Amino acid sequence: MRVFFADHITVPLPDNHRFPMAKYAMLHHALVAEGILQPEELVPPEPATRAQVTVAHTPEYFDAFVDGSLAPEVIREIGIPWSPEFVQRTLASMGGSIAAARQALKDGFSGNLAGGTHHALADRGGGFCVFNDIAIVSKLLLQEGAAERIAVVDLDVHQGNGTAAILAGEPRTFLFSMHGQKNFPFRKVPSTLDIGLPDNASNTVFLTSQQTGLDEVRAFSPDLVIYQAGVDPLETDRLGRLNLTMDGLAERDRMVLQLCRDTRIPVVMLMGGGYAKPIEDTVLAHVQSYRIARQVFSSL
Ligand SMILES: [Zn+2]
Repeated sequence: MRVFFADHITVPLPDNHRFPMAKYAMLHHALVAEGILQPEELVPPEPATRAQVTVAHTPEYFDAFVDGSLAPEVIREIGIPWSPEFVQRTLASMGGSIAAARQALKDGFSGNLAGGTHHALADRGGGFCVFNDIAIVSKLLLQEGAAERIAVVDLDVHQGNGTAAILAGEPRTFLFSMHGQKNFPFRKVPSTLDIGLPDNASNTVFLTSQQTGLDEVRAFSPDLVIYQAGVDPLETDRLGRLNLTMDGLAERDRMVLQLCRDTRIPVVMLMGGGYAKPIEDTVLAHVQSYRIARQVFSSL
């Protein structure tokens, strides 16, 4: 199994910043410590190039982010202060998703210990997302002919508004987003299939609705599934309004990955959100996603 990471680049954040930057390195460390991944299975990616990122984003936005000339209100929407390290880290994260998607097409499964940045729009970011790796990967692979049909399964507690906006009117993609209806973003952009769940939705409600969505994804018969596996539906998440338990999240991951395995559809898993208090809950949930991937794709 080959999985990509971007936590070798550290982004300076002010004390008490609400973005849990530490979770990436903690996850990386835990996966190796628990023997879920061997150190040699974890690979730092090539940074994404301007040509790759601008398949989904305007060149003006790309250039302004890279050279540090974005307007203060645009930075504020992203929610993470600009720094040269943040640029490097962002490009590594996008590169990791591109590399992982290509690897998944070869092996059946791969992942990125970063990414899932589904709120970024073509010309601006938002909600801790600068560029949208899901849209970049989709556009790139379709353009290259590496895939003809791509499904996005976005089970982060927040709606995939940026992905829906960038890929609007692209019939070769099927976008399934399930999320807390009252969670950010407050103005949702329609996906192919949106399921907005009520506050405090339980495992049962979540998993039953998820099955409906997965049936539609399967009927679309994609060449690749991009799985945004954000763990913020967890009951202890500070931002998410849903009440999934750790077991509920396990079942969620298993349903997606087993479907892909059974139907031989390659799947790439991207990290997405997770803001639990304590942060260890978030890390445990991301670790669990990889433990399940290892079980389902036991031959890799
Ligand atoms: Zn989220």
